[in-house]
Amino acid sequence: MTKATPTAKYARPRGGAPVVAIVGRPNVGKSALFNRLIGRRKALVEEIAGTTRDRLYGDVTWHGERFRLVDTGGLDAKAEEGYPELIRRQVEQALEEAAALLFVVDAKAGVIPADEEVAAVLRRTKRPIFLLANKVDNEARREDIAEFFELGLGEPLPVSAQHGTGVADVLDRLVATLPPFAEEEAIETPRLAIVGRPNVGKSMLLNAILQEERVIVSPVPGTTRDAVDTPFEFEGRAIVLIDTAGLRRPGKIGRGLEHHAVLRVKQTLDRADVALVLLDASEGLTAQDLHIIGLALKSKTGVVVVANKWDLMPGASPAEFEEQVRSRLHFAPWASFAIVSAKESAGIVPLLRQALRLYDARRQRIETAPLNALVQRAVAERSPPTVHNQQPKFLYVTQAEIAPPTFVFFVSDASLVHFSYRRYLENALRARFGFQGVALRLVFRSRRQR
Ligand code: GDP
Repeated sequence: MTKATPTAKYARPRGGAPVVAIVGRPNVGKSALFNRLIGRRKALVEEIAGTTRDRLYGDVTWHGERFRLVDTGGLDAKAEEGYPELIRRQVEQALEEAAALLFVVDAKAGVIPADEEVAAVLRRTKRPIFLLANKVDNEARREDIAEFFELGLGEPLPVSAQHGTGVADVLDRLVATLPPFAEEEAIETPRLAIVGRPNVGKSMLLNAILQEERVIVSPVPGTTRDAVDTPFEFEGRAIVLIDTAGLRRPGKIGRGLEHHAVLRVKQTLDRADVALVLLDASEGLTAQDLHIIGLALKSKTGVVVVANKWDLMPGASPAEFEEQVRSRLHFAPWASFAIVSAKESAGIVPLLRQALRLYDARRQRIETAPLNALVQRAVAERSPPTVHNQQPKFLYVTQAEIAPPTFVFFVSDASLVHFSYRRYLENALRARFGFQGVALRLVFRSRRQR
């Protein structure tokens, strides 16, 4: 067994299983092994945050344990220069989010310098690493793999992606090191986060929600994994409120958001399905509010912009106020909007219903047929602009994922799909399928790619 000191804090997708990443230099058989491990399930595609690349993943269940296998790919075998740099980036990307890593080497080729590059980065992590010597297609080769001990990552495990040998053993060892995955709580209970800059009334809103007649607060607070989460029941549904108490720093309101506060908000949003971004109606929308709304958009949750302290706005028109706020939210015209007064417990029930609607919309699955019909119609109504005299052809679209709803568009050449056209398609999806208030992910893949 290789280095294995798992702790509980590894990142996992929101409400999802722990991530296991496959790393290794090109041509060792990463993709073949990936396909072996995910079995008959289809590989799905996701964008790599902050880049224009995407990668493959598949959810694997083994003896009741679930994890998400990610093929970091992205390494171009032909890009000889800057090669160690590429490898380093690939591995670091994987380390950022993976609970465990599968490091694949080629038993036929033996140890080569590129393997050492990868090993050097991997040796610095404390996560469990499994060193898989691939292409052990016969008994004779089994003896050769001892040379991989020299990578300093423990015992090499013989596998053959081609024949499937050794794969079950790897899966047994792997799932034994993974942190437990609380599927039911993570997936079934809507998680609402109340976020906002200091003094907008987050605590008061939290209390107003918990004191609302129709809300039944769980008699045992802290029954969820996290002590600061508050479970309650509303109109027959279980909900968890995620606390951002750490953002409260009364008396000290700087112009920007403190680095620490930003981190807290991000962490909270990462665990949430729907973000209630509070602002103080009497002060209007501030730069800090916009910053936090921006963070919520990035986290791909549902977003309700909530104007609190409406009791301080006698005579003001809700419609005009919403209009004013929206005129500065042109980057997210789809966000939901609500008005409340936490102090007077006004607007709480509609707000909770709205949040639940967003939660449900975020978990919708759109059938492939109506989805493709819609996209065909949208493309017919407004054809994609040409780039370098070429026009992208839309071949097929499928919803790969819910929460956030993720749509994969297969096109003749993804690089030809202009940003504004992506927006156009996104708007068409929203209008047709009721994704109001919910961040969507659109992935464009070229048909010729793998
Ligand atoms: P937090 O920092 O966002 O948690 O804000 P608090 O909940 O501590 O509220 C900050 C201040 O705003 C307190 O003085 C509250 O009494 C006040 N406040 C919160 N909600 C309302 C509201 O709906 N109306 C009015 N008038 N004051 C409010």
